[in-house]
Amino acid sequence: MTGIAGRLADLASGAMLDTARVTGLSRLSPEFVRVGLSAEAFRKATWVPGAKLQLRPRRGSMSLRTYTPVSWDAAEGVTELIAYTHGDGPAAQWFGQVAHGQPSEVMGPRRSIDLREATGPVLFVGDESSVALACALRTVTGDASHVFEARDPAGLTDVLAQLGITERVAVVAKAADRAEVLGRARDAAAEAPYTLVVTGDAATVHAVRRDTRGWQRKPRQVKGKAYWAEGRAGLD
Ligand SMILES: Cc1cc2nc3c(=O)[nH]c(=O)nc-3n(C[C@H](O)[C@H](O)[C@H](O)COP(=O)(O)OP(=O)(O)OC[C@H]3O[C@@H](n4cnc5c(N)ncnc54)[C@H](O)[C@@H]3O)c2cc1C
Repeated sequence: MTGIAGRLADLASGAMLDTARVTGLSRLSPEFVRVGLSAEAFRKATWVPGAKLQLRPRRGSMSLRTYTPVSWDAAEGVTELIAYTHGDGPAAQWFGQVAHGQPSEVMGPRRSIDLREATGPVLFVGDESSVALACALRTVTGDASHVFEARDPAGLTDVLAQLGITERVAVVAKAADRAEVLGRARDAAAEAPYTLVVTGDAATVHAVRRDTRGWQRKPRQVKGKAYWAEGRAGLD
C-alpha cells in the first residue's frame, strides 16, 4: 500500500490499535525470539491462556499478524510472545529485526483457543508456531504430553529445553505424509478422558482431526486451530 491508502491505513490503525513497547528481548535460536511487550492498555485487559494478540508489523498497511501471549501481567502491563521467524513475511521480518524499546501497534488479547476448558490430561500436538501456546498451557496444567513436528527437530528440541519443556515431548521431522506425527500422537493418547489441543500447519491440524476418528483412545474434546497454511499469508 502506498500514498493515500497507506496514510489512511496508518490513521485507522492509530485509532484502532494500542501502542506497546518492546521491554524484553531474548533470542532462543536464530529462528526463535522471545519478546516482552509493555503497554498501558495491557493493565486493563483480561487474559485467557490460549488467547491471541495481533500486531501490525508494517506501517502503511492494515495487515495484522497473530501471536499467542505466553503469560500476562496485568499489574505491570506486560506480556510475552515467542515468535518463529520462518521466511520473509512482514511479521518474520519484524521479529527478526526487533530491538529493545521499539514501539509496536497491537490489538488484543482476543479470544482464540480457551485453554482453561482443557480438562483432564492434555495431548498437545503442534509445530514451531505452537511453542508459545505450549508455554501458555503450562499456566493451566502440568499434565500434558507433547508431539511437535518441526523442520529442524534438534533446533526445536533445544528451544523447548530452554523454555523448560523437556518431559513427555516428542519432536519429529516434518514430512509430507505426516505418518510419524500421527503415529506419535496416537501413541501418546492417554487412557483417561483427555483433551486434544492441536495447532500449527492447517494441513496437519486437519490430518490429526481426521486421524483421531480411527483412534482407540479418542479425545473427549478437541481444541484445534490452524495457525498458518502453505501459501497463505496472515491466517487468523
Ligand atoms: C491464533 C494464532 C496464534 C498464533 N500464535 C503464534 C505464536 O505464538 N508464534 C508464532 O511463531 N506464530 C504464531 N501464529 C502463526 C503466525 O501468525 C503465522 O506464522 C504468520 O503467518 C506469520 O506471519 P508472517 O508475516 O511472518 O508470514 P505471512 O506473510 O503470513 O506468510 C508468508 C509465507 O510464510 C508461510 N508461513 C507462515 N507461517 C509459517 C510457519 N510457521 N511455518 C512455515 N511457513 C509459514 C505462509 O504460508 C506464507 O507462504 C499464530 C497464528 C494464529 C492464527
